[in-house]
Amino acid sequence: MEAKNYIAGIWVGASESSPSINPSNTDDVVGVFPRASAADAERAIAAAKAAFPAWSRSGVQERHDILKRVGDEILARKDELGRLLAREEGKTLAEGIGESARAGQIFLFYAAECVRLAGEKLASVRPKIDVEITREPIGVVGIITPWNFPIAIPAWKIAPALAYGNCVVFKPADLVPAMAHALSEIIVRAGIPPGVFNLVMGRGSVVGEAMLNHADVNAITFTGSVSTGKKVAATCVGGMKKFQLEMGGKNPLVVLDDAELPVAVECAVNGAYFSTGQRCTASSRLIVTAGIHDRFIDALSTRLGQLVIDDAVKAGTHIGPVVDQSQLDQNLSYMEIGRGEGAKVAVGGERLTRGTPGFYMAPALFTEVTPSMRIAREEIFGPVAVALRARDYDEALAMANDTQFGLASGICTTSLRHATHFKRNAEAGMVMVNLPTAGVDYHVPFGGRKQSSYGPREQGRYAAEFYTTVKTAYVLA
Ligand code: NAD
Repeated sequence: MEAKNYIAGIWVGASESSPSINPSNTDDVVGVFPRASAADAERAIAAAKAAFPAWSRSGVQERHDILKRVGDEILARKDELGRLLAREEGKTLAEGIGESARAGQIFLFYAAECVRLAGEKLASVRPKIDVEITREPIGVVGIITPWNFPIAIPAWKIAPALAYGNCVVFKPADLVPAMAHALSEIIVRAGIPPGVFNLVMGRGSVVGEAMLNHADVNAITFTGSVSTGKKVAATCVGGMKKFQLEMGGKNPLVVLDDAELPVAVECAVNGAYFSTGQRCTASSRLIVTAGIHDRFIDALSTRLGQLVIDDAVKAGTHIGPVVDQSQLDQNLSYMEIGRGEGAKVAVGGERLTRGTPGFYMAPALFTEVTPSMRIAREEIFGPVAVALRARDYDEALAMANDTQFGLASGICTTSLRHATHFKRNAEAGMVMVNLPTAGVDYHVPFGGRKQSSYGPREQGRYAAEFYTTVKTAYVLA
């Protein structure tokens, strides 16, 4: 497959290209994709700017119909798209299909939001004057996404951007161009007018930077690492752009003595290891109170030993490969860092070989971890979790909040008192009770606190805060 970028209503090639490789089988080339130049990004921005006046005034029915066609096609093809996703990113087939279905639902949700956008009308405090508060689109929105949710994250940025009347320049992550291309083909087929949606595949340092530095990009929505997010923020502030950042996590899952052990173990297995642990919401810190600690570690270790780690698209695989060599190297180096810090490897952490050459790794669990260790503080972004022992609920809560991140926070307990207290006092944007920290719905806000997020929430109706700007009009009656 030789793919192209989509700029100003035309599929165009680029002078440079690079292959996308299947992490389950590095002999399998998923496709060859263009590496756009800064000039390509500039043409996409110019096209988006030119398309904005007409699109921002287009009828909400037209926008609804286009988004609905996108959602319908994604849902109808979710198995095929899920297979491509699993082949390119390495999450399992079931996870790939689930993520594709979610992307379809997101488009359907925002199709309906097009016809629901409402303003407010109030009486002025001065007589004979009306006040109207309306929401207007922002203009050209630059969308920069990571590799770990290659269709859901683009969907939850592109769909609201278009629904609220903005034009889009979409730069996907370098590792997952095939999914970005497949999604873009669907958006084009749904009848999006030329210039309203542009796909520019290329390097962050080239295409991403060109978007950040361009005066005609009015807003940037970014999901990725904290270090890139900080650069995005600094550049956006310099250009006075609106911006929104979703970044890393080191999410705690607290397990109290009164937890139901099987529930806690399943929350940890799912939250920490599924999707190969490559989720910003992964339960990478397991904070376990003393009375259940040893039973929990034993049960979790046994369960990890039963998981099948293999080719992502193979039936029966529970955990696919790590996404690429550099992420695998990072995970393995954290195994060494943890050992060097004095933590104990309860299970896993070794490189695995399978029938095909891929980036396979055994899911790892560290015990005897203390809160100041690097493995307890830094995002590893792989199938590696650390277990911390807490005296009681109060110490567990303090440990849970002792982090630079604040995306998701979970607790397993049968105590209503502790669950209620945790919900109120966890310093995170999302709190889960007897559920894994990962796994969220598409129609409610998503986002965090501290260094995990910056700016308004994504998803659901709350997305309107970012993708629109509010106007207050005073009218003499
Ligand atoms: P990354 O920061 O390396 O890249 C993210 C995107 O930014 C990519 O498209 C990349 O090409 C682009 N980019 C890189 N340098 C750039 C620059 N100088 N200017 C503009 N754009 C640039 O992140 P990644 O490795 O793709 O993703 C993993 C990270 O994403 C993890 O930290 C994970 O926690 C985070 N993440 C967060 C969420 C969330 O919603 N909070 C969701 C998924 C992933």
